[in-house]
Amino acid sequence: MKVPFYDHAKLYRRRQAEIDAAIQRVVTSGRLDWGDEVPAFEAEFAAYVGAAHCVTVNSGTAALKVALLGLGIGPGDEVVTVPNSDIGTTSGIHHCGATSVWVDVEPGSLTMDVAAARAAITPRTRALLPVDLFGHPAAMAEIMTLAKAHGLAVVEDACLALGADIGGRTIGQWADVTCFSFSPNKHLGAYGSGGACVTDDAALAERMRKISAYGQPRSRHRSLGTTGQPLNHETEGLNERLDEIQAAILRARLPDLPAGLAARRAQAARYNEALAPVLDAPQTKPGMTHAWRNYVVHVDRRDVVRTALTERGVGTAMSYAPPMHLQPVYAGKGYGPGSFPVTERSAARLIGLPIGPHLEQAQIDLVTEAVRAAVRQSTASA
Ligand SMILES: *Cc1c(COP(=O)(O)O)cnc(C)c1O
Repeated sequence: MKVPFYDHAKLYRRRQAEIDAAIQRVVTSGRLDWGDEVPAFEAEFAAYVGAAHCVTVNSGTAALKVALLGLGIGPGDEVVTVPNSDIGTTSGIHHCGATSVWVDVEPGSLTMDVAAARAAITPRTRALLPVDLFGHPAAMAEIMTLAKAHGLAVVEDACLALGADIGGRTIGQWADVTCFSFSPNKHLGAYGSGGACVTDDAALAERMRKISAYGQPRSRHRSLGTTGQPLNHETEGLNERLDEIQAAILRARLPDLPAGLAARRAQAARYNEALAPVLDAPQTKPGMTHAWRNYVVHVDRRDVVRTALTERGVGTAMSYAPPMHLQPVYAGKGYGPGSFPVTERSAARLIGLPIGPHLEQAQIDLVTEAVRAAVRQSTASA
């Protein structure tokens, strides 16, 4: 591939000294568990997004599950979400024993259609779970207003939207809990897996922290072997913690995040300028700042265009297509084709193009030329 989707080794070489030092710091300390790196990263990450509390976990999927469990959501409860997302959005609801209720998205932003969400609310609904798809914020002001009117919680899946904002208010400051992923392929990637829940609610943060770590207060583990506190299981929990080495690596990488976001925004602007005349380029709603985790275009003859791009050395992705309601695992829920027309039309036409700080401007230009040629070719042969 001349233009790869990811190049983790290249980004590592740019920060090799800091990342190596972070790993060494943990390994030589002998404190592989319950050390200082996790709490330090949580404080730094909370400060970055402007939230009062951060609870790190070991994936974005875990973050969604821990957030819902922290809110007390379980069997008999319904959570309204969207079908055009990572499976973790929906499976996280089911892992709590709750029921997912999908609604379609709005054209353009491809995020939760607020009117459809309103219509899906029943007496059993406990929470709304919007997704900031591809890094475009969901309509959080309207979603928070709707939730408040019905006494619902809001868990925001911001796994693709680190660094996005609405009117200057950063994603992480809107929902009751905002969930992030530190999968290697996200904006801030761990060297393995990671995730976080952020909230302004101290009691909720403490519940989520316990749920993610055996149901016990972290202080008990941090003092293990020194004060010898006895086991005291007040509640059951999971083991979904971020580990010390990942936290140390994330601390080393966090300072690069603003430059990474700036590179993505510059690349997206260049793509928009070159591609908007020839296809459906992504649009950002006024007042919103996109985080551009994905640059996703829509074309009519998707498979033809995609093959032509692969032949030209351009990596592409089918970003969340087919949607969840058409996946075999959810066949039993009884949603066939035609259930969510906006989601389905997008899924049938979308192509994710390479974007990210590992790419040089010449590669972005190569992609735009290849896309323009592939679209011309696909319409000529139609
Ligand atoms: C990546 C992602 C997840 C899951 O995160 P993991 O860290 O891979 O578990 C959930 N939702 C969305 C929208 C994502 O992009």
